Amino acid sequence: MIDFIFCKIAEGKIPSKKIYENDNFLSIPDANQQIDGHSLVISKKHFKTILDLPSSLGSELLDCIKKTTMKLMKEHNAEGFNIVQNNFECAGQLVNHLHFHILPRKKDGKVPKVY
Ligand code: 5GP
Repeated sequence: MIDFIFCKIAEGKIPSKKIYENDNFLSIPDANQQIDGHSLVISKKHFKTILDLPSSLGSELLDCIKKTTMKLMKEHNAEGFNIVQNNFECAGQLVNHLHFHILPRKKDGKVPKVY
């Protein structure tokens, strides 16, 4: 069930706040905020890891990551950011659906744990 939670969000079957979207990607707030503004860029189609994503979608993925990050940085007065992407269980992937963590950062000593 948890592996298909992001499919259901992308299909609008589970309501979620959308930060940004294009044809193939969508960004949403993470349900367990590790830090203020912690968000996820997810693919609309089901891919398990980044290795399953067709390279032809790379530019759209980057568009979603960049637009989401710029919006979050402005909203949260961030001075920097991390992008974290976990693949397979041993590397900390809990949801088997391609996603990127976007973590706005400030010089406040707070360190997010995302793997
Ligand atoms: P992973 O460890 O797989 O890289 O991270 C999965 C992330 O998905 C976790 O940060 C977790 O909080 C988030 N998550 C799990 N279920 C949901 C959900 O139903 N909605 C949202 N927005 N995030 C979720």
